[in-house]
Parts: sequence; C-alpha cells; structure tokens
Amino acid sequence: MFIVDAHEDIAWNILTFDRDYSLAVVETRQRERGMSAPALNGDTLLGWPDYLRGEIAVVFSTLFAAPARRQIGSWDTQFYTTTEQANKIYRNQLDAYFRLTDDHPDKFRLILKRADLDDVLSHWQNPDVDEHPVGLVVLMENAEGVRSPGELDEWYELGVRIIGPAWAGTRFCGGTLEPGPLTSEGYALLDGMADLGFVLDLSHMDEMAALQALDYFPGAIIASHSNAKSLLKDTESNRFLSDDVIHGLIERNGIIGIVPYNPFLDPTWRPSDGRQAITLEHVASQIDHICQLAGSAQHVALGSDFDGGFGLQSVPAEIETIADLQKLTPLLAEKGYTNSPISAIMGENWLSLLRRTLPEEE
Ligand SMILES: [Zn+2]
Repeated sequence: MFIVDAHEDIAWNILTFDRDYSLAVVETRQRERGMSAPALNGDTLLGWPDYLRGEIAVVFSTLFAAPARRQIGSWDTQFYTTTEQANKIYRNQLDAYFRLTDDHPDKFRLILKRADLDDVLSHWQNPDVDEHPVGLVVLMENAEGVRSPGELDEWYELGVRIIGPAWAGTRFCGGTLEPGPLTSEGYALLDGMADLGFVLDLSHMDEMAALQALDYFPGAIIASHSNAKSLLKDTESNRFLSDDVIHGLIERNGIIGIVPYNPFLDPTWRPSDGRQAITLEHVASQIDHICQLAGSAQHVALGSDFDGGFGLQSVPAEIETIADLQKLTPLLAEKGYTNSPISAIMGENWLSLLRRTLPEEE
C-alpha cells in the first residue's frame, strides 16, 4: 500500500543542516552524532532507504522560510526581513530540489505534470524492480516569497504546484499565532493562483482567512498538515482546524493531512512525558474524526511534517522512521476500515488530488 506524505520541509533541512536524504535514517543519525542538528531539530525521521521500506511513493516537499521576528535561533539561516530576501531563499530551496533530483535521479524525481506522476507510480508498481524513485511535488509554505501575483506564472513554470499563503501572519492573511482575515493582497494572490491552477493549502491560515478562502477560491483546496481542534484538550491555538473549516474543506472536496507530531495530538504533552504517552492510536482517532464528519474516507490523509522542527523525540511511540507510518494500516483495520478506505487515507486521496490538478503538459 503506497503512502503519500503531504508535508516535508526537505529543502529547509538540506540548507539548514546539510542533511543528505539519499542516506538512510540510521546513517544520518550516526553522521550527526555530536553535531547540533539533533538537538535543534530532533533525530531525523527521513531518508531514501526508509521511504523505500515504507513505500512512501510521493512527498509534497516544501519551500519554507520564517520571518525574522519568528527566527528560532542564530543557527536558523532560512529567515527573511524583506520580500526580496524571502524570494531569494525560496529560489535557493528550489535549487536544492533541482540538485537533489539531478544528483540522485534513481532516488528522487520532481513531479511537474501528470506523466511524471504516472512514471513514478509505474516504477513502484513494477514487481521486477525493488528500488524506486520518490516523487516530489513542490509546495510553497508561506507565500511571502512571491513578490507579486504577477510572478506566480514563473513559480508555476519552475515547478511549484501548491501554495499555502500563511505560516505566521503574512501580508496575504492571518496565520499561526497571528490571527486575521484575508487582505486585499491575499485575494489578489488567490486570483492569480486560481488562474494558473495552483492548489491552495489552508494549513497555518487563521480560521477567519481559511473560511473566506473556502468561499472565494474556485480551485482545489487542501490542508496539507493540520489536525482537528475539537479532539484536542486545553488549546485555543489557531494552528488547528475548527470543525467549521473541516466541514468547509469537505464541502469543497478538500483533503486534510493529519500530522503525527505529539504536541499536535495532545497539546498537554511534554517531552518529559516520554514518547510512550502518545501512540498511533491518537493519529487513527484524528483520521477517524474527519471520516465521521465527512461520512467517507475521501477527505483525510497524511501530512507528517517530519523533520519540520522536530524529529524522533516528538513523534508517537511506534515511529522510529517514516517507514513506520505503515503501522497505521492495521490500526485502521481494527477500527473497522476496509482495504479501499485505508488505501485512500494512506495515499490514494492525495494521488487523486494530483491527478485532477497536475497539468497534462509542462
Ligand atoms: Zn508548517
């Protein structure tokens, strides 16, 4: 059963920590012993041999930079004070994907159009080969790198297919910890995105902005990495999705990627509670919640965000690497899910989104 993971900050890790994702998780952990990366970003959960073992066929790989006011520490090089700087960082991160796929075409391939997706999947479906390339779909998280809607066509041409307008609040809309509506620049961005066929990612958008975008944006809408707020105790954080936004996404045929990150599964969790306090059962409950609201399994999937500011130390007990996401399959089966909804959740839902949104030609 193939997995599609809708959120990994791969380029951010390459440029921040010089991580080499062609290596296995165990190798990277060994290489990083005594280095700063594990303390700052946790032990890695990602690497090509682990993608292979876990049958992670496609990943939405991000371009991501933070505004200077939210820079995490002096080690955090991927931050900006001006739109111009954000633009440069995003270009560099895109280049990191070009290098990764040029250096390791047997391990990573960019997916720009339908035929690229078909090609990657045909590799994975070929029983005579046991090594497959992971397909990368580029997702821009935090659209501040877009200097004006007029350059959206350039980003599309370069390979970006999905855009999330927010992370913190942006000039486009309110975001995590910084609430607010869509601004006039935000509406203009959505207009440009719709014209070109970009997918809109609501993750990190403030609830007000998300509801406005659900009303306004005519194209495909997702939340690449967001959990349902109503299952979470003791949080008022706008990082989570209200049931209103979830209903809106379902109505618009959207898909929500559930994040297996302990503080997003139980906001009262602290590292001192230990990994055993949170299990994949919490992830299965999040998945089940969306399915119950939707009355089907067509609107929920996975968006791990692995290595995106956290690693091994902050994920459910059963997860040693990304490959262990496969352990969700028996858990969902125990909850009464049959093969077809399980494969929808693990990957098919994201694949069907890609099939209906990727261009036929570049
Ligand atoms: Zn994020």
